[in-house]
Amino acid sequence: MSNKSLRVLISGAGIGGPVAAYWLAKAGHDVTVVERAPLLRKEGQTVDIRKEGLKVIEWMGIRAQVDERTTKEAGIRLVDDQGDLWADFPLTDSSVTSEVEIVRGELAMLFYEISKSNVKYIFGTTIQDFTETDEGVNVTLKKQSGGKLQQERFDMIIAAEGLYSRTRAKAFNEDISKPIHSLNFFAASFSLPADKNDTLWASGSLFPGRRGFLTRPDGFGRTRVTMTWFDPSRDSRELIHPSTPIDKQKEFVRQLYQGNSSSSLPRLLRGLATSDDVYFAEIGQTKASAWSRGRVVLLGDTAYCPSAMTGMGTTSAIVGAYVLAADIVRHPTDHAKAFQSYESHLRPWIEKIQHLSPAVSLATPSSKIGVWVLYWVAYLISLLLKLGLGNLVSRIFVESDRGLSLPPVSIFDTSEAKL
Ligand SMILES: Cc1cc2nc3c(=O)[nH]c(=O)nc-3n(C[C@H](O)[C@H](O)[C@H](O)COP(=O)(O)OP(=O)(O)OC[C@H]3O[C@@H](n4cnc5c(N)ncnc54)[C@H](O)[C@@H]3O)c2cc1C
Repeated sequence: MSNKSLRVLISGAGIGGPVAAYWLAKAGHDVTVVERAPLLRKEGQTVDIRKEGLKVIEWMGIRAQVDERTTKEAGIRLVDDQGDLWADFPLTDSSVTSEVEIVRGELAMLFYEISKSNVKYIFGTTIQDFTETDEGVNVTLKKQSGGKLQQERFDMIIAAEGLYSRTRAKAFNEDISKPIHSLNFFAASFSLPADKNDTLWASGSLFPGRRGFLTRPDGFGRTRVTMTWFDPSRDSRELIHPSTPIDKQKEFVRQLYQGNSSSSLPRLLRGLATSDDVYFAEIGQTKASAWSRGRVVLLGDTAYCPSAMTGMGTTSAIVGAYVLAADIVRHPTDHAKAFQSYESHLRPWIEKIQHLSPAVSLATPSSKIGVWVLYWVAYLISLLLKLGLGNLVSRIFVESDRGLSLPPVSIFDTSEAKL
């Protein structure tokens, strides 16, 4: 291992960016993170952290803080229009509710807090342009508020900009949506004050037309609501664009759900109308054909978003950040080797994660009969589980272990690693 200290620019202070920043700075590298938003973005609903991600969190020494902030969700239940319970799935190793459910903003804040003393964060700033030379990459940084452009030289750029990444599009000279495979599902998420009917159970309902909603506790006295719908037309994609006025976006969602007789809907739609934290998103997967080009390497949703349907988006960004940082620390003088090693190590695991079980599309029926059948299937599965036939159910529905060995944490030991 050489003791070269690298200048690393990370674009995006979401989940993957700050985790990679933490580990690279721990190994003594000089890390700058630029984030387009003026402040750390705290929007978002509950996210899962699954076993591989939890290992990284433990190594970061923040498992206790994460545990303090979890939503304490008891499991997930399916209720019908009248609020009657059909099926419930308590927290287990393989349930939809994972051992650690946490509001995304809380997790993002923890990663930022733990890394900020050793990392330079610049908010309200993006990469305007970059050019590679033999020695590095010359980057032009632009403040969103205007003002003078700033030029800096780095050894590499890590693009951790989420699904729609401008840096990825520029590095690969392709349209920004090229590697994104839309699932034609969309989501509007917001929060409400919890009322007396809200419990520690997540509660979901489905409607004909491939629509549904999920309410979840957030651990801080509010209920997080996600309304999802399927739309293969362009309407929803245009609607969720940040340039669409928020009132128009809310009205579009209200109309989608109009006519459904669920007793919970009026409250949710009133909450949507008055919410100031609504976040619209397209549910899609990124399948970048290569994860690096020259001195630019892709991380998290920018390279391999598995989609919210898998519950693995946050875990894969955390694990990806750790593996990428480990490979950079192992090969500080050869970025191409580091990026190649990162991709070949992680890609098989990511491909397994991105595989969507047919159960995902069966779980969003379009007809009234389809919804009715699904409720009965859910009822029977939950019954089998209660009767102790969980093994049979998991053989049918649950993926086998996806097996990923993580590089040892000792790689980041500063005494060995450098400065
Ligand atoms: C505001 C928000 C809310 C979310 N809510 C949910 C949710 O409720 N449920 C769920 O499953 N997933 C949610 N996600 C996605 C989830 O965070 C990711 O799937 C996962 O954690 C992978 O993280 P990531 O770091 O790759 O990307 P992200 O967490 O998406 O982070 C990307 C970051 O890059 C910034 N960025 C984008 N473009 C640029 C640019 N050109 N220059 C600089 N910075 C840029 C973004 O502002 C963002 O902070 C949300 C993401 C965001 C940004």
